[in-house]
Amino acid sequence: LEFPLGRTLYDVVQRRPGRVVNALNGVSLQLNKGETLGVVGESGCGKSTLARCIVRLYEPQHGQIHYHGQDIFEAEAKKDRSYNRRVQMMFQDPYSSLNPRMTTGQILSEALRVHDMRPANEIPARVAELLDLVRLPQDAADKLPHEFSGGQRQRIAIARSLAVEPEVLIADELVSALDVSVQAQVVNLLLELQERLNLTILFVAHDLRLVRHVSNRVAVIYLGRIVEIGDSETLFSRPSHPYSQALLSAAPSLDPDDKGKAIRLEGELPSPLNVPSGCPFHVRCRHATELCKREVPALLPRDGRGEVACHHVEELN
Ligand code: SF4
Ligand code: MG
Repeated sequence: LEFPLGRTLYDVVQRRPGRVVNALNGVSLQLNKGETLGVVGESGCGKSTLARCIVRLYEPQHGQIHYHGQDIFEAEAKKDRSYNRRVQMMFQDPYSSLNPRMTTGQILSEALRVHDMRPANEIPARVAELLDLVRLPQDAADKLPHEFSGGQRQRIAIARSLAVEPEVLIADELVSALDVSVQAQVVNLLLELQERLNLTILFVAHDLRLVRHVSNRVAVIYLGRIVEIGDSETLFSRPSHPYSQALLSAAPSLDPDDKGKAIRLEGELPSPLNVPSGCPFHVRCRHATELCKREVPALLPRDGRGEVACHHVEELN
């Protein structure tokens, strides 16, 4: 996935005429088979835009997304629908994404039918299997979405995504609307299913502890750019970019020794429509120099520490 650097902010448009959303700029990343890539950043940074581009809800005006070597928008133009099945988006609010007038059984059967996953006579057995997979009781098939708790509804949504046997799940704030205790259950179920079904997951969330728990790799996004990407454990324990450091230090920590170590971010997050020159973080960075105001730092690999976009990363770490 590649969005070239230095374009205007109107790079990514929602696929409805006239709607423009905040852009991604100079973003280039690879999602590897079987991994969970976490995506973190303040709200409005472009995390959801990224997720929505990948499932073709938004179309970048510049840049490309390839899946198994094929441009996903070209594939769509050629009426290749397999991508819709292979890459599934899961949303935050399972209540609004589940039809309130359809039973769970009908919801799952419909997903199986739309993508021709099973002959009609095998659908009931597959529905039963899917309910088992997400650990819902068999009588769930006859119930309507409102008869379930939030966590159960999210399980139904997961079952619906799995019905079409996807390779990739795009989870945008999947559990943010759920109680903390339920979040853990749903996320652990997701991890278990990932292992079992060899799924690849893009996990977008603002909850850093959750991202750390689920991700193998993490990308930190600031104003539409990746400022740091790398192995999750290393990035969370020793973030290199000043923005990652501030973001992670501000997160609630389970470690009582960490209390009071939060690095305060100066100023407000600038509008995505008015991104500062040079390093987009320079107006809030205590280490900013003249160079930072002038030049955009490239995202460069550091020895065993992932990739970082900061002119002064070596001096600061
Ligand atoms: Fe701070 Fe400069 Fe690094 Fe940007 S490039 S994060 S402004 S030190
Ligand atoms: Mg979002």
